[in-house]
Amino acid sequence: MRTVYLNGEYVLEKDAKVSIFDRAFLFADAVYEVTTVLKGKLVDFDNHMKRLKRSMKELQFEPTLNEKNILKFHRELIKLNNLEEGVIYLQVSRGVAERDFAFPKETELTVSAFTQKKDLVENKSAQKGISVITIEDLRWKRCDIKTIQLLYPSMAKSEALRQGADDAWMTQNNYVMEGSSNNAWIIRGKTIYTRQTDNLILSGVTRAAILSVAEELGYKVIFKQFTTQEAESADEAFVTSATTFVTAVVKINNHRIKDGKPGVFTQELRKAYIKQALKTLK
Ligand code: PMP
Repeated sequence: MRTVYLNGEYVLEKDAKVSIFDRAFLFADAVYEVTTVLKGKLVDFDNHMKRLKRSMKELQFEPTLNEKNILKFHRELIKLNNLEEGVIYLQVSRGVAERDFAFPKETELTVSAFTQKKDLVENKSAQKGISVITIEDLRWKRCDIKTIQLLYPSMAKSEALRQGADDAWMTQNNYVMEGSSNNAWIIRGKTIYTRQTDNLILSGVTRAAILSVAEELGYKVIFKQFTTQEAESADEAFVTSATTFVTAVVKINNHRIKDGKPGVFTQELRKAYIKQALKTLK
């Protein structure tokens, strides 16, 4: 059984208990981060912390968190659970208060974290590529804040599985926004397209890393939204996230992308990303 972290304590997962008045439970009033663990160490930790702080600021969470302490309990969880490869899920909730829509004053944050073992580098989905469907994006307009309000992405992914696909790309006015839990990219020729970041998508930590990797490899990157049809007829397509790194998309709706195998550039980017990720270990 795993040992998890809850408000300063390390406890067995069965003993980690939170109040039913916690704002995360009542209002999804919480933010989160998922940090990759490779070789028992954290990938891109500083950028996850930066985004966490931003999410908290946007929601006027007070007080702030001690980053050193977060690093300490992340490392402790890795040790206590013998985690070599996988992720650490960290959640920060506004805390416990009488149910009321207005933000309560002076709550104590509820901070929890747990580990998940996963094969990330040698990963079957990455080797074969995944299939996606497109689905209307019915989320709210602050997807730049990484909140735990994930019901629509959960519905979208479940619909994808029901249709025999692996994931869903969410669209607005026929433009691809992002995946259910990843950023969406296509390649045409040697040009990479990814949507600009704003309030309608999450600015992925992996996305930012890929941008510098792509630049180093000499790719041209265009920050522009693309349509479903442009994606379906692309030379290559892929998703990025802390858990998938760079994973090829080989089918979009009923359209096979090129020969239906992970593309050459996508594979190159995945390899280069992993190499770069290993340099950020903390
Ligand atoms: N978009 C959405 C909607 C996500 O949920 C995620 C993963 N949490 C991402 C993009 C990718 O972000 P990251 O690279 O930081 O994992």
